[in-house]
Amino acid sequence: SYRKGGYHAVRLADQFAGGRYIAQRKLGWGQFSTVWLAYDTNTSSYVALKIQKSAAQFVQAALHEIDVLSSIADSDPTNSKFVIQLIDHFKHTGPNGQHLCMVLEFLGDSLLRLIRYNRYKGLPLNKVREICKYVLTGLDYLHSELGIIHTDLKPENILLCSTIDLAKDPCRSGISPILERPEGNPNGAVTSLIEKRLKRRARRAVAKISGRRSSVGGIVEAAKTGRNIDGIDVRCKIVDFGNACWADKQFAEEIQTRQYRAPEVILKAGYSFSTDMWSFACIAFELATGDMLFTPKGGQGFSEDEDHLALMMELLGKMPRKIAIGGAQSKDYFDRHGDLKRIRRLKFWPLDKLLIDRYKFSVNDAQEFAEFLLPLLDFAPEKRPTARECLQHPWLNCKESTPNEIRNESSVEKVGVGMSNLKIRVGK
Ligand code: ADP
Ligand code: MG
Repeated sequence: SYRKGGYHAVRLADQFAGGRYIAQRKLGWGQFSTVWLAYDTNTSSYVALKIQKSAAQFVQAALHEIDVLSSIADSDPTNSKFVIQLIDHFKHTGPNGQHLCMVLEFLGDSLLRLIRYNRYKGLPLNKVREICKYVLTGLDYLHSELGIIHTDLKPENILLCSTIDLAKDPCRSGISPILERPEGNPNGAVTSLIEKRLKRRARRAVAKISGRRSSVGGIVEAAKTGRNIDGIDVRCKIVDFGNACWADKQFAEEIQTRQYRAPEVILKAGYSFSTDMWSFACIAFELATGDMLFTPKGGQGFSEDEDHLALMMELLGKMPRKIAIGGAQSKDYFDRHGDLKRIRRLKFWPLDKLLIDRYKFSVNDAQEFAEFLLPLLDFAPEKRPTARECLQHPWLNCKESTPNEIRNESSVEKVGVGMSNLKIRVGK
């Protein structure tokens, strides 16, 4: 991918935007870009530098993302809405072409890593509540103030804030940024030994400010104390607006990552803000249990979409006929009575029962959590609560719940499988 139209190769201490930003270390990459920790010499702080591939379609995608991120930043000057902030953007020309670059605030690791780090056991419910409040606050801002639908909410796209204070004040953290490459080579290249040493230093620096390396961002301490995540600051922000759209200006019919996809998207019945609320409920369940809520798989005689619809109905009850037959894709999956054509036998397993039987929730915890989630998983999108309404839900403010150590002691040994794996599905 490091060829014409592809990624831009970055070396340590490379300069960007006329020397303002200095590359420190690679933080991650996606299909479209590589992301670097960079030092901003203007503000003396660390930032995340996202460098897009240079081919036309990637430039197009980056322009769209910058457009969305700019409107997010413009309406949130104090950066208090729990959504990623765009700091700057510019073009950078390299051997592979011209790359659009986005400068973003530097954040910690994703909720996906937090879940993994906790060995897929599920987080304590009080942590789940905290995370939910931040995500809902971010969603309410996007939906009600900006009219933006994220369309790809999932644990990977929510990043912990835990590095941010240190990143703002590198002096206090005792880490000095690497500002230039050592001299001595006429080509500007450095010997591999120096390169290695510099890289090691950069890695140590990032590990120090972010807790990256062997653990989740900013929670090195937690790692030392036996994977106890109680001490983690769980403020988090919504990121990745590459697929976002405006409610009145949509681009794609097929949106969302499979497991977080709402029924109206599968049925091609149109979507709006409420489609993010469905994904949000899936995320909340995953945080609390360590398992994805729906993990559909195609099988003999039925497709992944059909399994997905069946799983939804097994958990939530039969889809109302009007909704089942109401989408452009409905005829492929449902007969005119609103029954699945190729999956005839459903095994109902309601949410509160699932939480008790499989995840060893107390009856009380299970009922309260289910009461919070079920309205968000309404088959009728317009009946789902908005992010703002959801923020008022009593579950978010209740204190008592069974500590999850107790839950997990008795819980079954999990091997990372969703509930769908427990059933044998037979197509017609
Ligand atoms: P793409 O659009 O190419 O998928 P992403 O925006 O998802 O790129 O970023 C790729 C990876 O870079 C992320 O998974 C994450 O690990 C890292 N990353 C992105 N933004 C930040 C940030 N603001 N702070 C820290 N790491 C980030
Ligand atoms: Mg991505």
